Amino acid sequence: MSDWSDLFPLNYSRDNSLDPFPNIVDLVDLRREFNNLVLGSNGETPIGKPYILRRMRRDSEGSLVPCICVHPLTKEADRDYPCSICLGSGNLWDEELIHLYEVVASAPGGSNSSDNFHKMNVGTASLPASRFFLPYNLHPKRDDRLVELELDLDGNPTIPYIRIAIYELMLVRAMRSDSGKVDFWVCSGQKMGPSTKGYVG
Ligand SMILES: [Zn+2]
Repeated sequence: MSDWSDLFPLNYSRDNSLDPFPNIVDLVDLRREFNNLVLGSNGETPIGKPYILRRMRRDSEGSLVPCICVHPLTKEADRDYPCSICLGSGNLWDEELIHLYEVVASAPGGSNSSDNFHKMNVGTASLPASRFFLPYNLHPKRDDRLVELELDLDGNPTIPYIRIAIYELMLVRAMRSDSGKVDFWVCSGQKMGPSTKGYVG
């Protein structure tokens, strides 16, 4: 197709001469607004909470870096007796303390009160899921994990850190504004089941 005019009508051009509101500049910086909301600002209480972003290490081609404990034939790590380096994930990673905003999705079988009235079909299983909103500069990736921390009554992580759940990221989306810049990230995560040893790494 050589003529794109149907797909991109001139009305949507960035050319100022065609802009119906040429004198209006961006009044709202979503990136800044999001960070103020989640991280707090002058006189603004943050709505975010501490979490750990577990970034998978990647080689120069972007592939995950396997841990030495991974079995050469099965390509799997032992999750029941995890090694002390990867804690059973099978790949090398680094952790950093971040702040994010979490919305708990009410998964059937979870702890949501409405689940008490919801009769499940036999054999149906589901794990709790959450949607996480992260600041633009964190740049999470699909194979990374989000690790929930035990927090005290004021919302600070207990020391030493206690990891109470790990979420694998099913979907990572960059939320972009009109100019294409990333304002924040939305990650859909599903809580990973504990190993048979009851160890969450
Ligand atoms: Zn390992």
